[in-house]
Amino acid sequence: MPLPAHLTQRNGELYFEDVALDHLAQQHGTPLFVYSKAAMLDALSSYQRGLAGRDHLICYAMKANSSLAILQTLVRAGCGLDIVSGGELERALAAGCAPERIVFSGVGKSRDDMRRALELGIGCFNVESRSELDTLDAVARSVQRRARVSVRVNPDVDARTHPYISTGLKGNKFGIAHGEVLETYRHAASCAALEVVGIDCHIGSQITESSPYLDAMDRVLDLVDAIEAAGIRLHHIDFGGGLGIDYNGDTPPAADQLWPQLLARLDARGYGDRKVTIEPGRSIVGNAGVCLTEVLYTKPGEHKNFLIVDAAMNDLPRPAMYQAFHRIEPVKPRAGDPAIWDVVGPVCESGDWIGRDRALTVQAGDRLAVLSAGAYCMSMASNYNTRGRAAEVLVDGQTTTVIRQRESAADQMRLETLLP
Ligand SMILES: *Cc1c(COP(=O)(O)O)cnc(C)c1O
Repeated sequence: MPLPAHLTQRNGELYFEDVALDHLAQQHGTPLFVYSKAAMLDALSSYQRGLAGRDHLICYAMKANSSLAILQTLVRAGCGLDIVSGGELERALAAGCAPERIVFSGVGKSRDDMRRALELGIGCFNVESRSELDTLDAVARSVQRRARVSVRVNPDVDARTHPYISTGLKGNKFGIAHGEVLETYRHAASCAALEVVGIDCHIGSQITESSPYLDAMDRVLDLVDAIEAAGIRLHHIDFGGGLGIDYNGDTPPAADQLWPQLLARLDARGYGDRKVTIEPGRSIVGNAGVCLTEVLYTKPGEHKNFLIVDAAMNDLPRPAMYQAFHRIEPVKPRAGDPAIWDVVGPVCESGDWIGRDRALTVQAGDRLAVLSAGAYCMSMASNYNTRGRAAEVLVDGQTTTVIRQRESAADQMRLETLLP
């Protein structure tokens, strides 16, 4: 199976851009996240090509990976940011994002978060319920600002044809149900401190086909027809994120193939003049990162062989949380017949596994690369078992920069107090 872009085998070892991963692991220790700047920017430029010639804003969904240098790289390359918390707002500012290029998503924004975002003048609040609209209206009055809003609509894309879509269906907590959207817009338009500017949807994650997007676009544009017929003008249409990546032979459409199709529909429905906003996360950074880990022990058994590695569910939560698959490749492959291993971490939980039944030729002390680890890994990492979070390195050609130091035990205890 081909490796993700910018990962190559050279002289019998794995490189990210022009840097040998084994050398990085020796230098900085493991577990270690390594990101390729070129891979990130290539993924972004596929969207930029797909939307070229349109009034558009690509708001990188920073919950996928919110490390400051990653944000900074994407902001410098032209991205706005999609945030889901007050903490992410502060990170967005620290990374140099202009407030007007920030959209604020999420079902549970606090009043404090709203106030801060209003004072900064962010681009848009994507509102998910009627009571959130009322709260935002009240907070905006209290700070004497107007809040620009979109309503996140739930397009209820057919579950039978697209069962993998997890957020665009009836019966989940996200968005306003199709049948209640028009009334919600009428209400928003009547709130003095709210300025209706757009409409928003986000139908799920790791979507690997075009059809759910095309269906969702049709459903959303039906709503736009109705909202505009009621005299409420929508300046932008936000299609969220959700485009999948290749974890294990998956074949999602490329952004520069998908977007021309979607824009053609937009034109055909008479909305070609509207600004298009999107919120991609995983598809920008997912395959731009790997996690390096060292084999601590081999533990062959009667029923199972275990490879115990120094990365764990606190570093790579996706297998434990979603039974997700990450490819695992030796950083310096050795000759010999492979055995079948379960790759597991040191955390005291049976759920602490990284890969099951993998054919690998390895010995203790070897290093492995867990692929497709750029999205929803470091940003979900925890300190369970008082394990410090991993260090992170950004590779750019031959240059490497440590963008986050390894977290120490002292770092973890810093905010705690012993009793007198
Ligand atoms: C998580 C999220 C995204 C990004 O999803 P990806 O699958 O990472 O592209 C975009 N918009 C909203 C509202 C989200 O919650």
